[in-house]
Amino acid sequence: MTRPKILVVGAGFAGVECLQRLERKLSPGEAELVLVSPSDYQLYLPLLPHVAAGVLTPQSVAVSLRRRLRRTRICPGGAIGIDAKAKVCVIRRSRAR
Ligand SMILES: Cc1cc2nc3c(=O)[nH]c(=O)nc-3n(C[C@H](O)[C@H](O)[C@H](O)COP(=O)(O)OP(=O)(O)OC[C@H]3O[C@@H](n4cnc5c(N)ncnc54)[C@H](O)[C@@H]3O)c2cc1C
Repeated sequence: MTRPKILVVGAGFAGVECLQRLERKLSPGEAELVLVSPSDYQLYLPLLPHVAAGVLTPQSVAVSLRRRLRRTRICPGGAIGIDAKAKVCVIRRSRAR
């Protein structure tokens, strides 16, 4: 039997926190976890003013998704349409940066 697939769109605080909790709660056999994100990092928005002020470097407010999400498959791109009834998400793929 195929595992159910859980798809999260967007690697903001909500998406990443949701996937971290799912990784803790579900065994690998229970579900496949997939994240759709145009980038392979999470940007810490509240720290952007510190970057603008020169207190922090841009690199220090961009956290690698692969380090935060150990067993979530990252699908590089953006969701351009969702049909919830048909359980289909259309993704425009991009190269992860
Ligand atoms: C300068 C600044 C300072 C802030 N300071 C604070 C603070 O001090 N305290 C506080 O509580 N909050 C603060 N906030 C607000 C806080 O950052 C947001 O509330 C929080 O980021 C919301 O998280 P989210 O996951 O809901 O959305 P977002 O962080 O907006 O994440 C959404 C993600 O989804 C991605 N996405 C969108 N559409 C698509 C698509 N179609 N396909 C794939 N990916 C997609 C986006 O690229 C983004 O990465 C601040 C915000 C800013 C900009």
